[in-house]
Amino acid sequence: MDIRENIPLAPLTTFKVGGNARYLVEARSADDVLATVEYARSNHLPLFILGGGSNLVVADAGWPGLVLKIAIGGVSERDNADKKEFEVGAGEDWDKFVALTVARNCAGVETLSGIPGTVGGTPVQNVGAYGQEVAETITSVRVLELATMQVRDLGNSECGFAYRTSIFNSSERGRYIVLRVTFALTLGGTARIAYADLKKYFPEGSSPSLQQVRDAVREIRLSKAMLIVPNDDDCRSAGSFFKNPIVDAAKYEEVAARVNGNAPPKYPAGDGKVKLSAAWLVEQSGFQKGLSRGPVGISRRHSLAIVNRGGATAADILALKNEVQAGVRDKFGIELTPEPVFVGFE
Ligand SMILES: Cc1cc2nc3c(=O)[nH]c(=O)nc-3n(C[C@H](O)[C@H](O)[C@H](O)COP(=O)(O)OP(=O)(O)OC[C@H]3O[C@@H](n4cnc5c(N)ncnc54)[C@H](O)[C@@H]3O)c2cc1C
Repeated sequence: MDIRENIPLAPLTTFKVGGNARYLVEARSADDVLATVEYARSNHLPLFILGGGSNLVVADAGWPGLVLKIAIGGVSERDNADKKEFEVGAGEDWDKFVALTVARNCAGVETLSGIPGTVGGTPVQNVGAYGQEVAETITSVRVLELATMQVRDLGNSECGFAYRTSIFNSSERGRYIVLRVTFALTLGGTARIAYADLKKYFPEGSSPSLQQVRDAVREIRLSKAMLIVPNDDDCRSAGSFFKNPIVDAAKYEEVAARVNGNAPPKYPAGDGKVKLSAAWLVEQSGFQKGLSRGPVGISRRHSLAIVNRGGATAADILALKNEVQAGVRDKFGIELTPEPVFVGFE
């Protein structure tokens, strides 16, 4: 176990803000994870689990304990009837894994191309984009349960997946460390063209290959600064900063009334509820693309991304987050929930 001291966390995140970790350990195996957890416990160090750092706002004061960076690698493949199962180490880069599945002609995660972070990070918030989410293809998640220090396999239904949530970021937060994730993808399956942007991209009646869909998604993401490009300050972010709020029919009508009855965009969310567009709410509340507040702002290409234009602090990000939330609350009476995880804040 290689324990490093006073390690800057900002470079390990896509936002590039935040202070130091008092200690940092990179775990390349389940045994490394176990040993590091034991070490943190016996030294009374608060533990934080770091994946690719793409969904985090790290406090300027940093993390007072031990940051455990999950770097468990390895992909194994096995055929099972018309499915191919991929068992993937939690530290593998997500987009590299998607590229591999497409190269193997396996459908199921192609529209999740270009999302930064690790494979182990994807079940945490049930990553989704352009018509797919990982809940549809994950069959099991191998975890270390911290209370018992036992390695367990959780089946899909035990993970409690829903829109941007799972047990890992809600009811059982802090209970498990994800070690490996198994996906079952459809060998020779067709690409999912369900999302409006993709329907617009491909002519009606066409049947693009998985690779064409992957390329299209990456191109669309690039146009919205949702693909990480080094030195592009519009993507120095944590992606979408707020979740799309789910409201009942009465609340929807109330929102519509506040924009003179013009129908706000909505998506079915089950149980008679609808999902509103957080981006639309933000824009309607007066926060436009390209807005600037010193070193932070809103992406020029995506109204839902708070960005670090260079030299920002976590406090700057928090101030703009609070300003946007207050604006949307005042205009629509809706409390926007942030999507990223806040690390090291009181
Ligand atoms: C430009 C950009 C675009 C994005 N687009 C999308 C998108 O389209 N859809 C989407 O859903 N998300 C999107 N995101 C958010 C982010 O990429 C995903 O949530 C990603 O899965 C986070 O994984 P990570 O490895 O970076 O996790 P981190 O950011 O390192 O961690 C996030 C949370 O997961 C926990 N965690 C991470 N790994 C483990 C593990 N092995 N075991 C237990 N807990 C763990 C952490 O403790 C933390 O609570 C985007 C982000 C950016 C910067």
